[in-house]
Amino acid sequence: MWNGLRRVSSKQKKKNTLWSKVKRERITYLREKFGYLPCEYCKANVTEPDAHHIDGNRNHNIDTNIYITDRLCHSFIEDNNLKVTQEDFQGYRGE
Ligand SMILES: [Zn+2]
Repeated sequence: MWNGLRRVSSKQKKKNTLWSKVKRERITYLREKFGYLPCEYCKANVTEPDAHHIDGNRNHNIDTNIYITDRLCHSFIEDNNLKVTQEDFQGYRGE
């Protein structure tokens, strides 16, 4: 019966925690590989990283589905429904 209360289910909490863990690991991997944290879209140094779901499925929280971007690139990718792959640096314009 509906009791009027709404809270985040423990199942949802578990998913959020898992995604945070995948995000942390991806950030560590990129930092070690490049010596700084690049946005995977534009290659710029990211200070507040966002984690994009590559296949658009927010329940698909695995390491091959994560793409680290800055805020602007994340909105751009979402707004334009862009297909991205890890470290593709599609928005990179060169030096
Ligand atoms: Zn970017």
